Amino acid sequence: MARYTGSSCRLCRRENLKLFLKGDRCYGDKCAFERRPYAPGQHGQRRGGKFSDYRVQLREKQKVKRLYGVLEKQFRGYYYRAERQKGITGTNLLILLESRLDNIIYRMGFAASRSQARQMVRHNHFSVNNRKVNIPSFQVSLGDVVEVREKCRKAPQILEAMETVVRRGIPSWIEVEKEKFMGALRAMPNREDITMPIQEQLIVELYSK
Ligand code: SF4
Repeated sequence: MARYTGSSCRLCRRENLKLFLKGDRCYGDKCAFERRPYAPGQHGQRRGGKFSDYRVQLREKQKVKRLYGVLEKQFRGYYYRAERQKGITGTNLLILLESRLDNIIYRMGFAASRSQARQMVRHNHFSVNNRKVNIPSFQVSLGDVVEVREKCRKAPQILEAMETVVRRGIPSWIEVEKEKFMGALRAMPNREDITMPIQEQLIVELYSK
């Protein structure tokens, strides 16, 4: 499966926002965005000026794609799905992205970043409703129980992530039983639960052209 293999920190610098793509490093003084808060590349510090509507919309779309670690084709697929659902397309889009298994595992605190969660899902570390699931884009539904599989409960990256999750906290729509290495979706997230600065209507405008 295709995936982005370049520098994660470069993406934060490009989007001018901390996307928290690298776990622990994002909270320390080694964060590249803290050190060099300007766009990457030779002319990064010189860029600026007036942005066209298209450029603003494009950057917003790229930001959300990068935040959730989704590539263009799949992201567009989420958009079409969100459009077909009842309600506000932009909100539907964000809820679909939030319900991905890799994101839920990150939110539950079993992984330090979404990309680490994605890798662990692929390596069969998790089950959903007692069934092994190794598809990071699996959509978790209300009431689903996500569990670290018995044989993976001593994995250092999981134990470490569970200790450091206090820094970002676990959202109220998720319930986690740390001792049992499991968590469940108490409710589907609302728009207000997604606190990153995202203007999803710009993405809708971009795709509706
Ligand atoms: Fe982004 Fe984290 Fe890298 Fe900082 S350390 S630039 S937040 S990925």
